[in-house]
Amino acid sequence: MGKATIATAQLSSCVGCHVSLLDLHEKLLDLLEDAIEIEYCYVLVDQKEIPEHVNVAVIEGSIRNEEDLEVAEELREAADIVVAVGTCACYGGVHGLANLYQLDDILEWVFKETPTTDDEGETPEEVVPELFGYVRPLPEVIDVDYMLPGCPPKPESIAEVITAILEDREPELPTTNLCEE
Ligand code: SF4
Repeated sequence: MGKATIATAQLSSCVGCHVSLLDLHEKLLDLLEDAIEIEYCYVLVDQKEIPEHVNVAVIEGSIRNEEDLEVAEELREAADIVVAVGTCACYGGVHGLANLYQLDDILEWVFKETPTTDDEGETPEEVVPELFGYVRPLPEVIDVDYMLPGCPPKPESIAEVITAILEDREPELPTTNLCEE
């Protein structure tokens, strides 16, 4: 078999999981040389359209708006295997804390009430893409084959999951999966 094709996507999130992927440094270059071809990844490849088919989709972030849902569903359709990377994708994570509040209250706070917002601010009539009333982790909207929590997961854990998928074996992961200083 030739190189495995990979797509990565960021839904609502902080980009930290993609930074962790880039923190693989030379290991990422080794993977690119020997085993994988990245076809869709906004931090590495200038490709705007999700490919029709890839072997593995690596998805960061949770479902906060219409666009998140569309991207997640499209990638599920395109990929043989979907990996939820990071605590936001697996469980909601930091973004899931928004579920403690009503969406209207969040918009009111962000656009009118923060200390750095002047009192004349208005909440937008329309938000594009449309926000959902609550945040959902990836497994609530699509089937997920692998979950790799961590905020962010260690770079080597991301590499291990991808490598294990390519080698058709179970990933060997540490019992704690947080980046350390
Ligand atoms: Fe950012 Fe952590 Fe969410 Fe990854 S899991 S997107 S690092 S907040």
